[in-house]
Amino acid sequence: MDQLIAICGICRTQIPANDGVVSADLADLNGSNEDGFARWRVTHRGCHPNLDALTYGIELQQISTACQLLVWTAHMSEKTWLPKTDWMELVRTAGETGRLDTGLWLASHGVEQ
Ligand SMILES: [Zn+2]
Repeated sequence: MDQLIAICGICRTQIPANDGVVSADLADLNGSNEDGFARWRVTHRGCHPNLDALTYGIELQQISTACQLLVWTAHMSEKTWLPKTDWMELVRTAGETGRLDTGLWLASHGVEQ
């Protein structure tokens, strides 16, 4: 039941469990970005630049413990698109550091502000 600390990819501050989202834009898999790869993002709801158009989002309060992260990983392992994302990197970081942190969301990786 270890609580994970979530860090926003935009403002780089800690996110309260009731104000965050772990998300991926699966449209990226269809070739709308250069590598046909979707990146997971951890952000405040208010920091995400395009939350309405998201194709997959998990409310932070549904994934704020290590046990919940395990359950989501088992659930999404049934999805054919999961290996085309960096989900396992998110899981590895969480296991090693206790943090949900996908790093700074760089402009070169699709952020529009
Ligand atoms: Zn933020």
